[in-house]
Amino acid sequence: PVLRVAIMGLGGYGSRVAEAMKACTKAVLAGVISGTPSKIKNWQAKYNIPEKNCYSYENFDAIKNNPDIDAVYVITPNALHHDQVIRVAKAGKHVICEKPMALNAKEGEEMVDACKKANVKLLVGYRMHFEPKTLEVIRMRNSGEFGKIMFFQGQCGFNIGDPNQWRLNKQLAGGGSLMDIGIYAINGSRYMVGEDPIWVTAQETKTQPERFKEGVDETVQFQLGFPGGAIASCLSTYAMNHLDRFFLTGEKGFAELQPSTGYGPIKGRTHKGELTQPHSTHQTIQMEEMADIILSGKSPVVPVNGEEAVKDLKIIDAIYLAAKTGKRVTI
Ligand code: NAD
Repeated sequence: PVLRVAIMGLGGYGSRVAEAMKACTKAVLAGVISGTPSKIKNWQAKYNIPEKNCYSYENFDAIKNNPDIDAVYVITPNALHHDQVIRVAKAGKHVICEKPMALNAKEGEEMVDACKKANVKLLVGYRMHFEPKTLEVIRMRNSGEFGKIMFFQGQCGFNIGDPNQWRLNKQLAGGGSLMDIGIYAINGSRYMVGEDPIWVTAQETKTQPERFKEGVDETVQFQLGFPGGAIASCLSTYAMNHLDRFFLTGEKGFAELQPSTGYGPIKGRTHKGELTQPHSTHQTIQMEEMADIILSGKSPVVPVNGEEAVKDLKIIDAIYLAAKTGKRVTI
């Protein structure tokens, strides 16, 4: 069986996913949902999509009656994910949603509940969970090659451009760099350390208040404490370009990935030498694996379900609270 996917939101990342899906054997782009008729026309021509599989944001609930679509991949601005995912679930289709899955943990839990109630799967676009060098570091950690894990550093950022984009609009983005790019350090700390943090401290700095309005964080430093005693020290920013580095160390050895979460190729080494796993387009592997998860019930090495995203959203809630109050927040 092949997973027939409709993409909702034909923007930058939606286009990247569509191109990557051309190389998939288990998933196929079968439909589109967009507010821009001219984009729909272009995509129909480019990907051979029939008129009956094209929807607008107003009428996409009718996808319920379309037997030729199995899943909808939501790739719109963050603030829209919550309502769109719930509508897709109510239409009885599986959902893949981009990160951050929602603006906070409460919204995330509502999405998980809606998908459970509708008996559809909810997956989140955590493409690094399928990346070969990342998976090799996880394998080494599980087999004890780093010894007891002691410390993780996750540094994620880029210099954001256009001041008018939705990423700098609190209403649509839900926050700033932390929602968009810092989430890679949060999620990464969990799959690299192999535990979920139990406390958070955080500090926010804003060097360009004219560029980053109230509620849109420019730079956030945060620290996470893990039950086994490991500590993570992370940086999320919209003011430093090409910041993309993970460092994990234990009593016996280390792993370093740089770049660690960009579109790749990911590069890295451990105390044993270079990581040599070959690069493939992240979005292609992700969609192949997600087809197996949805259609065959396959379990990925690192989960990519809604519950997994809620864990990250709880940490995001805690980081914003810790930065605001200056206090250590327990999760
Ligand atoms: P984008 O601005 O390029 O595209 C967003 C699309 O949503 C556009 O086509 C826009 O027309 C549409 N849209 C629908 N309703 C809108 C509204 N009310 N306001 C503004 N736009 C609206 O953004 P993007 O980079 O494609 O990001 C989309 C989502 O994908 C975000 O949640 C982002 O975090 C995520 N993303 C994930 C990755 C990844 O590597 N996993 C990479 C980039 C983006």
